[in-house]
Amino acid sequence: MAVSIDLKAPQARTGLAENVQAENLLAERAIASKAASSAVPGAAPGEEKPSLIGLSREELGEALVSVGVERRQIKMRVAQLWQWLYVRGVADFSQMANVSKDLREKLAAAFTIARPEIVTEQVSVDGTRKWVLRFPAKGAGRPVEIETVYIPEEGRGTLCVSSQVGCTLTCTFCHTGTQRLVRNLTADEIVGQVLLARDRLGDFPEAATPAGAIVPSEGRLVSNVVMMGMGEPLYNFDAVKAALAVVSDGEGLALSKRRITLSTSGVVPMIEKAGAEMGVMLAISLHAVRDELRDELVPINKKYPLKDLLAACRAYPGLSNARRITFEYVMLKGVNDSLADAKALVQILKGIPAKINLIPFNPWPGSAYDCSDWDQIERFADAVNQAGYASPIRTPRGRDIFAACGQLKSESERMRKKDRDSLEAARVTELAAG
Ligand code: SF4
Repeated sequence: MAVSIDLKAPQARTGLAENVQAENLLAERAIASKAASSAVPGAAPGEEKPSLIGLSREELGEALVSVGVERRQIKMRVAQLWQWLYVRGVADFSQMANVSKDLREKLAAAFTIARPEIVTEQVSVDGTRKWVLRFPAKGAGRPVEIETVYIPEEGRGTLCVSSQVGCTLTCTFCHTGTQRLVRNLTADEIVGQVLLARDRLGDFPEAATPAGAIVPSEGRLVSNVVMMGMGEPLYNFDAVKAALAVVSDGEGLALSKRRITLSTSGVVPMIEKAGAEMGVMLAISLHAVRDELRDELVPINKKYPLKDLLAACRAYPGLSNARRITFEYVMLKGVNDSLADAKALVQILKGIPAKINLIPFNPWPGSAYDCSDWDQIERFADAVNQAGYASPIRTPRGRDIFAACGQLKSESERMRKKDRDSLEAARVTELAAG
């Protein structure tokens, strides 16, 4: 059943338990409005104003200087803007009531604080929400699309954020891995995903929660951020670091670093640096306990084999029983799900404060794997639990809208693939006919 979402209807916040009416809600809405566009009037198509989102306080100060704000006022003005951008969540300079009209106009003429354009917003039967977002062209490039996913649970709401458009790595269980890398996202585009989600969910003071939305019944609606969407975050280190500094800034979005997790496929030389400079929680996309198999599932393993990866994990700054590394393990039928694999997993993680996340494989069109049988997943989990690891089986979320782990791929890429497949099918039919 397809249901349109009224994007503007104000609605009192609803809890998970109260949301029975949201059952079977599957909504998809293409948003034709270009309200989010920030093109400079009179500029060549695709030319955009620089964004103030995602800048450090120092960079924001320099931006203010560039429009004529006196240096002695900078600290105060930066604090004002920071409040509007990240506490109040405004997306338009005209709403900054305590900033003079003259300065608002200067800022609006030179910069943007617009949200990314929403191409589609889909809501799964389980309340998972996926946005396809479009960002303007950078330089000579084209506009790009990425996916951001919100997963509501009782007591928490997790936002899965993308760091790249496509990916250079080709993990064979991952849909994004079939899409070539187009470009890295910038810090404003990474922070923009968080701002947009909070807007759409009603997690800013003036924003309303959409009718029927499934959200946690108390606390912040976006309580956790995982850098686990499209791309390898450690291949876009500087932008991810800058973005997470803004997301965790105590006077703005104020998400604790313990609630931010960076997931890597295993870019070993950057792991220690990530811990030292970002200080967020670490997740490793592990999926195999032997190099031969991991070389196939996560090909970066050929460059940085398990021994090096695990050594980097042991050396992760701040590692303790209270700050464990999460090891992600996708359950692939007959590939990595034997009890011998479970025992080897326990063995190789010895001495590392760790959590193991078992992820039932989420299939996608053309994927070469099947999800392990549920009984086998439970046996595997038991073996790992008996060794003293908390190893929750991650309930598949958002499968019906291709929002689950490993299923992300930009909509335009999906459409292009569909077109290529139809052309290929037509060509085969033509050849067969003639
Ligand atoms: S799992 Fe992550 S690193 Fe591997 S292909 Fe997918 S997006 Fe890239």
